[in-house]
Amino acid sequence: MNLTVRIILGLILGAAVGLLLNLTSPELFTTLNTWVFVPLGKIFINFIKMLVVPIVFFSITLGVAGLGDPKKLGRIGAKTITFFLVTTCIAILIGLGLASVMKPGVGDFNTEGASFETTEAPPVVDTLLNIIPTNPVAAMADGSMLQIIAFSIFVGFALTILGEKTAGIKSLIEQGNEIMMYLVNLIMRFAPYGTFGLIATAIGSQGFDAIRAMGLYMIVVVLALFIHTFVTYGSAVAILGKTNPLSFFKGFFPAMTVAFSTSSSNATLPVSMNTAQNNLKVPKSISSFVQPLGATINMDGTAIMQGVATIFIAQVFGVDLSMTQIVTVVLTAVLASIGTAGVPGVGLIMLAMVLSSVGLPAEGIALIIGIDRLLDMTRTAVNITGDAACAVIVAETEKKHVTQA
Ligand code: ASP
Repeated sequence: MNLTVRIILGLILGAAVGLLLNLTSPELFTTLNTWVFVPLGKIFINFIKMLVVPIVFFSITLGVAGLGDPKKLGRIGAKTITFFLVTTCIAILIGLGLASVMKPGVGDFNTEGASFETTEAPPVVDTLLNIIPTNPVAAMADGSMLQIIAFSIFVGFALTILGEKTAGIKSLIEQGNEIMMYLVNLIMRFAPYGTFGLIATAIGSQGFDAIRAMGLYMIVVVLALFIHTFVTYGSAVAILGKTNPLSFFKGFFPAMTVAFSTSSSNATLPVSMNTAQNNLKVPKSISSFVQPLGATINMDGTAIMQGVATIFIAQVFGVDLSMTQIVTVVLTAVLASIGTAGVPGVGLIMLAMVLSSVGLPAEGIALIIGIDRLLDMTRTAVNITGDAACAVIVAETEKKHVTQA
């Protein structure tokens, strides 16, 4: 049986077992969860996380060195960032629009006693300045993605300029990259079991009453995620990327299932790069640049949730948002999704920043926190699909420069 099929089986079986235990025997669930489901999931996640920092360093360095000419780096960088920003804006608008029409927050919601501790988001200027690491080793030890990316770009750039002089280091990094990619393939064999454990935990521990109460909100978020994935990415890939959307989604599917079960763009990165390079035939140099950057700053699924959640909370608290406020929401949600780290649950914390920008109570977050894990899974799959779509499109548009040269 091929890997994708086995992962899907793991997903379905995990969901079924989790659901069954949740409905019939919560005690048995707790025991199995502690001794089976959590360990299975943890082994899988730890294994892929183990590879994230070395993969980002090796592959971005090589990617930049492989581009050769700094002009090409600038061009690819500009295309990538433009695609990220435009699609994130579209994502938020879909979320806001759908939530305004479907009104998930109009009805009886008990907001009494809702409380949520907000943590202050760092000022944008600091985030930007901090991209330059004062200590690259510390950045790697802490897993600070943007800093690692910046350092790798500089090293890759130096390798290009120094050429023959540093050929040894370059082949060292090339071989390091080979080792990492080999390990990703090895670890993926464990993916069906890891997925099983992760999904069983997620589904088994969600109270179904909570899901019923939040039904419409969940439907709106999931619907918006679907529209964005199939309409926005589907057409972008077809028109700009000249690729059949069906083969795009089919080829990238294994990575989406891993994102779905881990709820973490970062942890999925080794798999999503591997999948894009092997199944979607994105050249290594482009995939190595676009995807790590995207996993860190491009979170369309998160932006959608933030858009829907803002309207939902406004409706619950009976607040009418003005046009200016809507524009503010769009701008802050773009920033919030850029600032969201690719790990589980952070999108919800960053939502506090969006809410406070238009004076909505952050306590509203308490209403949606209970069911956020399930939505986190879905939006993370969308987050990394956006990065892959961008990689496919950049790869296609770069072709003409190769033939011209
Ligand atoms: N879990 C998401 C990701 O890793 C981020 C979030 O929305 O919480 O992409």
